[in-house]
Amino acid sequence: MSKSQPRQVDIAIVGGGLVGASLALALRGSGLCIAVIEAFTPTAPEHPSYDDRTLVLNPVSCQILSRLGIAASLEQYGVPINSIHVSDRGHFGRVLLQARQHGLEWFGRVMEAWRLGQALLQQAQNCEQVHWLSPVRLNTIRSFDGGIELALDGADKLTTRLLVGADGAGSRVRELLHLPATQHDYQQTAIICNATPSKAHNGMAYERFTDTGPLALLPQAGQRVGVVWTVATDQAGSLLTLSDSEFLDGLQRRFGHRLGEFQRVGKRANYPLKLVRAETNTAHRSVLIGNASHTIHPISAQGFNLGLRDASTLANQLSNQTDPGTADLLQAYQLRRQPDQDETIRYTDSLARLYSNDSITGKLLRTSGLLAHQFIPALQRRLVLNAMGYRDHVG
Ligand SMILES: Cc1cc2nc3c(=O)[nH]c(=O)nc-3n(C[C@H](O)[C@H](O)[C@H](O)COP(=O)(O)OP(=O)(O)OC[C@H]3O[C@@H](n4cnc5c(N)ncnc54)[C@H](O)[C@@H]3O)c2cc1C
Repeated sequence: MSKSQPRQVDIAIVGGGLVGASLALALRGSGLCIAVIEAFTPTAPEHPSYDDRTLVLNPVSCQILSRLGIAASLEQYGVPINSIHVSDRGHFGRVLLQARQHGLEWFGRVMEAWRLGQALLQQAQNCEQVHWLSPVRLNTIRSFDGGIELALDGADKLTTRLLVGADGAGSRVRELLHLPATQHDYQQTAIICNATPSKAHNGMAYERFTDTGPLALLPQAGQRVGVVWTVATDQAGSLLTLSDSEFLDGLQRRFGHRLGEFQRVGKRANYPLKLVRAETNTAHRSVLIGNASHTIHPISAQGFNLGLRDASTLANQLSNQTDPGTADLLQAYQLRRQPDQDETIRYTDSLARLYSNDSITGKLLRTSGLLAHQFIPALQRRLVLNAMGYRDHVG
C-alpha cells in the first residue's frame, strides 16, 4: 500500500470501509492501478466502518475473506456459531438450528468490525498497486469521454477510468452521479454493546423477538456476547442513558435466563435503521457497491455479507480487462448482482416489517412461521441457506 498520490489511476474506490477495502484487496494481482479515497485515517477512533459492532460473517463471506488473505485472523478472532436459537418473547414457537444437523461445522463466524478492518488493512499494506489516500474526502466529479476527474479535499485532483462508490449509506458518489435511491425509515434504532452472562454461550447465537423489537445475542470470545438490541427510535434515548445495572436489568427481562444472569456490560452505541436502495447502480464509468448501493436492516445480519459479494463479483469481472470502465462490463456486473441483491433485500425487509408488526395477525404469522420452521425440514433448510449467503457464490 502506497500513501503517495498518483495523478491517474485505473480504478478509484471512494470509501475505504469494509467493502471498499475488500474490493481493493480482491483486485491485487489484477495489474490495475488503484486508489482508495477514505475520509478517516484507519486508526481514527471515530472511523464509521471500523467500529465495535459485531458482524456475523456467513460461510461464503469467510471463503471470500480467506482468499483475500485473512484466513488466519478469521480463525483466531472469528468465533464460530454452531447453533441458532430463534424465539418470540411471550409467544409459543421457537426454532433451534444445529449446524451439524445440516451437515455443517458452523453457520458462520462472529467478528468485530474494527478487527476485520484491521486485518484487511494489514493485507492492503503489502499491495504496491493500491494507493490508500486518507484522510481524504471526495468533493466533486467531472465526467469526460474516457474517464472521470475527482476533486478531493485533502489531496490533488485525480482521474480514473472507473469510479467505485463504496462510501456508505449517505453516498456522495451516488449523489454526484444523480442516481436516485428509495428510502424507508424503519423508525427503529439498533443499540449495540458487549455483555457477559454467567453461563457459557457454547457457540449458540440467539435471536429473540420482543415487543420492543428483535434482540440478537452473538457468541464472542470467552463468555462474552455481542448484543444487538433493536428498539423504536423514540425509546432509544432512554436505553442509552440508563446506568449499566438498569440496562442489564432491562436486557435480562427481554432476553430471559437462558444464559443465566447478565453480569457486565460494555460501552453502548446506536445506529438509526433505514432501508436505502439505489434504483440503478451504474452510470458512465461508475458503479455503486456495498451500503452505497443498498443499506439494509441488520435483522438478518446480511449487510456486509451482501456488500462483500458485490466486491467479489466486481473484482472477478474486472480481472483481465484492459479497460475497467466500459458500459458492457458494468452492465454485465449489474445483471449478475441484481437477483442476489433483490432477494436479500426482499427477505430482510419483510423480516424487519413482520417482526416490528404488533398487530394480532402479525403475531400469529410470526408464531406460525416459527412453528413451521421448527417442524418442516425444507423450510429450515431454506432459512439456513438464506442465512449462509449461497445465492450468488462466485466461487
Ligand atoms: C447494528 C448493526 C449490525 C450489523 N450486523 C451485521 C452482521 O452481523 N453481518 C453483516 O453482514 N452486516 C451487518 N451489518 C451491516 C454492515 O455493518 C454494513 O453493511 C457494512 O459495514 C457496510 O460497509 P460499507 O463499506 O459498504 O459502508 P461503510 O461502512 O458505511 O463505509 C463507507 C466508508 O466510506 C467513507 N466515506 C464516506 N463518504 C466519503 C467521502 N465523501 N469521501 C471519502 N470517504 C468517504 C466512510 O468514512 C466509510 O469509511 C450491521 C449493521 C448495523 C448497523
